[in-house]
Amino acid sequence: MAYHSVKTIDDLRFKDDGLSTVTSEEQEKVEKAVAKNYSVYLRVAHLDPEVPLLRQKHVHYLKRGLHHLSEAYECLDASRPWLCYWILHSLELLHETITPEENFHTSDFLRRCQDPSGGFAGGPRQLPHLAPTYAAICALCILGTKEAYDLIDRPKLKSFLLSCRTPEGAFIMHRDGEVDIRGAYCAVVAAHLTNVMTPDLFEGTAEWIAKCQTYEGGFSGEPGLEAHGGYTFCGYAALVLLGKHELIDNKKLLQWVTSRQMRLEGGFQGRTNKLVDGCYSFWQGGIFPLIHTVISGSENASSLSDENWMFDQVALQDYLLINCQLHQGGLVDKPGKSRDFYHTCYCLSGLSVAQHFVKSHHVNLNVVGGQENVLAPLHPVFNIGVQCAIRAVDYFRKQPLI
Ligand SMILES: [Zn+2]
Repeated sequence: MAYHSVKTIDDLRFKDDGLSTVTSEEQEKVEKAVAKNYSVYLRVAHLDPEVPLLRQKHVHYLKRGLHHLSEAYECLDASRPWLCYWILHSLELLHETITPEENFHTSDFLRRCQDPSGGFAGGPRQLPHLAPTYAAICALCILGTKEAYDLIDRPKLKSFLLSCRTPEGAFIMHRDGEVDIRGAYCAVVAAHLTNVMTPDLFEGTAEWIAKCQTYEGGFSGEPGLEAHGGYTFCGYAALVLLGKHELIDNKKLLQWVTSRQMRLEGGFQGRTNKLVDGCYSFWQGGIFPLIHTVISGSENASSLSDENWMFDQVALQDYLLINCQLHQGGLVDKPGKSRDFYHTCYCLSGLSVAQHFVKSHHVNLNVVGGQENVLAPLHPVFNIGVQCAIRAVDYFRKQPLI
């Protein structure tokens, strides 16, 4: 453990300056639970200093979900391609293979989610929507077979994306839906992966996204709202893909995102004054590889480390391994919460980012808990495995641009 020693845990606690509020009480409660886990770990660390990733337990939980979902997932009936993506991406990070039968059934299900007019819906015969379109395309790229790639109707996908565009270049999530920075990200990724990215599709998009950067430095869902980790990742990753990162204040973004790592917990919060949550390990942690690449190409490149991202990678791994793993498999938001595939996916994604520092072709592994804990590296913009991303981009680059 990096800075988490018994002596310093108390120094790292939140200080309410004698003014207790609902927010400060909640923060203290979470710190207490997390500090207890760290203390228990430190007490037994002399017996086994390596904190294990419960790989097989997670695989078992995920594989079961790929075949059968419990009633608790009924509320996600309109997000079924997301479930496919969360599970498949988690499995690829864990180096777990998908059987040909699982591959066939998942592709076939996603085929049924594709709308006849283009784009993917949350389930068969539902309304096409940009979020499940992103999830379905990423899931198909992870499956990585010719059949999976070819089931994407690219000309219709392009017209669906165009139909979601506003004259300004923002994107609505679905027909008659709301404008949202996630829409722009999902559209940019879907178009980039499948080679339907023409300049007309994203004219003005980068400028619209730049308007979502707030006075704090992070990005909001649309201009004028509060900065938030998920929106910040989406906005910044889309800007990087569009090659327009210079439109925003990168230094302010860096300041904001570095300040979101919690001192005692080691994980990230999504917004200022909010509680730590495992899923932000990726939404916030995933911003660092992007910003590192951007600064590498700027006049400030010499200020960068060649070995580490600009956050405490060990502290994040401590948070995820010691506080977010359930013994029965699956990962959670914070101690006391129940598991789900969303948190499992983004906790593992954040863990992968914290383990792998990549610059040019040089990889520096920084792994808490020994080599058995190493996950697969991910593509920092799409959030699918690096190899799957390369294969998919190669495949679709050979198809004519639509
Ligand atoms: Zn969460």
